[in-house]
Amino acid sequence: MVDFRDIPNADMEAAVHEAFDQYSLVEDYNSFNFVCPYCGQMPNSEFKKPERKAYVYKDTWNFVCYKCKPMHNVMWEFKESHPEIFRRLMFMMYGKGGTTPQKRYERKYVEGAYQFKDGELVSLEEENDPDVQTAIAFCQKRHIREKVYKSWFVCKRDKRFLDKNPDGTLKLNAYGLPTGNEYGNRLIIPYYRFGGSWIQFDARDLSDKSKMRYRNYAGAKRELYNGDFIHFNKPFFMLEGAIDSTFIKNSVAVGGLKHFKSFVEADPNFLEYKENGVIIFDADEAGIDDLRTVMNMGFKWFDWSKFRNDNPQSPDFGGKVKDINEAVLNCSEFKMTPDGYVDPEFIMAHTYSAEAGIMLLNMKYGAPKKR
Ligand SMILES: [Zn+2]
Repeated sequence: MVDFRDIPNADMEAAVHEAFDQYSLVEDYNSFNFVCPYCGQMPNSEFKKPERKAYVYKDTWNFVCYKCKPMHNVMWEFKESHPEIFRRLMFMMYGKGGTTPQKRYERKYVEGAYQFKDGELVSLEEENDPDVQTAIAFCQKRHIREKVYKSWFVCKRDKRFLDKNPDGTLKLNAYGLPTGNEYGNRLIIPYYRFGGSWIQFDARDLSDKSKMRYRNYAGAKRELYNGDFIHFNKPFFMLEGAIDSTFIKNSVAVGGLKHFKSFVEADPNFLEYKENGVIIFDADEAGIDDLRTVMNMGFKWFDWSKFRNDNPQSPDFGGKVKDINEAVLNCSEFKMTPDGYVDPEFIMAHTYSAEAGIMLLNMKYGAPKKR
């Protein structure tokens, strides 16, 4: 797996100079500071002091302009505005001895992560593996894009992955049950961070027999799915589940209201750019109060509650669509782009401002009950 942190610091520093020296760049021990290429203006006289609002920090390689651009990794900046620099850095990362890029998804050791045992976790790129085939069939049935699921894994279920004591007997928990292989027979959906490492994950049951269809890794704190890849300066979308979010460009999955609130608290960009934020929560009646809460924070609402399952082949034909994945599969009114996303214009056409959304909910369900 590619990790941008493998690029030597000296090469990153040279790249920053190459891209931003023309913007009156000054460098100190921790950061680079320069006139923002987007909102800044170079002074037209040598006696004027340039306004340097943009920074690149050397510890994280984050780029931020305190006037116009929320923080993101400088590699994004290179990718979008200096593709030749981006390509060269990518090559450096791979290029040790001229080896070709390693395409296969492998898991790196990460501090605090669940320790899958050798052979327990298999990439969905290993198409000959029968468990992988089951997982791929699950993904294809749901129209999840290949590019997305190829970076996912299946966790095999096998007694040999159970934890053992030094004497070879099975390790037992407080209830006398064996430990290890907790995520066996599940699709593992990693919460990738920028650079490719991951700790948190969703584990989706592939047998459909388990009472818990979804599990999270309980050993680490909850994370925002795709949180490192969100652009706050254009419309961004917030969904509950990771799979649903793969159908929406520039989206994150928040895992429910409680977690959402903590993410909003942790990252000021959410409220600063709330004009761009659209909530796409499941539209069942249990979710109405959550929707109100989110709209009271100032976010917009994509209302898809009126759309119905119009696929006669589907067992839920005629019913309301329950989630985005069902809408994608079984609602012909849901407009899709050729590359497999829900059409952003279609979303915006059915999106209400916070004020209008609250009004609509109050008309439909009555004003919120006082508690
Ligand atoms: Zn700027």
